[in-house]
Amino acid sequence: FVMKVINIVLLTLIFPVMLSSCDSKEQQVDSPVADLTYSSEFTDTIIYPEKIEKVNLTDSEWKSKLEEFRYYVLREKGTERAFTGEYWDNKKDGVYLCAACGLPLFSSDTKFRSGSGWPSFYKPVRDGYVLEEDDSSLGMKRVEVLCARCNGHLGHVFNDGPKPTGLRYCINSASLNFAPEKK
Ligand code: FE
Repeated sequence: FVMKVINIVLLTLIFPVMLSSCDSKEQQVDSPVADLTYSSEFTDTIIYPEKIEKVNLTDSEWKSKLEEFRYYVLREKGTERAFTGEYWDNKKDGVYLCAACGLPLFSSDTKFRSGSGWPSFYKPVRDGYVLEEDDSSLGMKRVEVLCARCNGHLGHVFNDGPKPTGLRYCINSASLNFAPEKK
């Protein structure tokens, strides 16, 4: 009888400890910051969501996720200097993803030489993946382009683009990550 009691006491003491250690592991995986996919190594692993689920992080969470210059462009609507970004002259086949939340945004199929010094596309990779908002900052009337999932600032869209849309999405390299096609 004494052994039985000891067994029961041991079980009631050990089980809660085991359960609570499982809990803390799950909480780490479920954190919204850890859930985000920031880049894909190649285009074949890119996920194209049917419905855009908003990603809302606080400024300090973004600050801890993003390198300083990316934070300045994506979260503070900064602009990189022309001809200095990583992708303005990138001619490889692939897909450009949001550098903040990993949503695919533009395909190399629609990239063109604009001469502006910023990566330029004539349309987004899918309808609804970017948002457009009137922007009257710096004394100009422009249309700002934002990531539809995280509201990250990408650049601006102008009406002087090539066929078939006539649009020029003028995008900061700092807002993008490039995933090449697997050869
Ligand atoms: Fe995003």
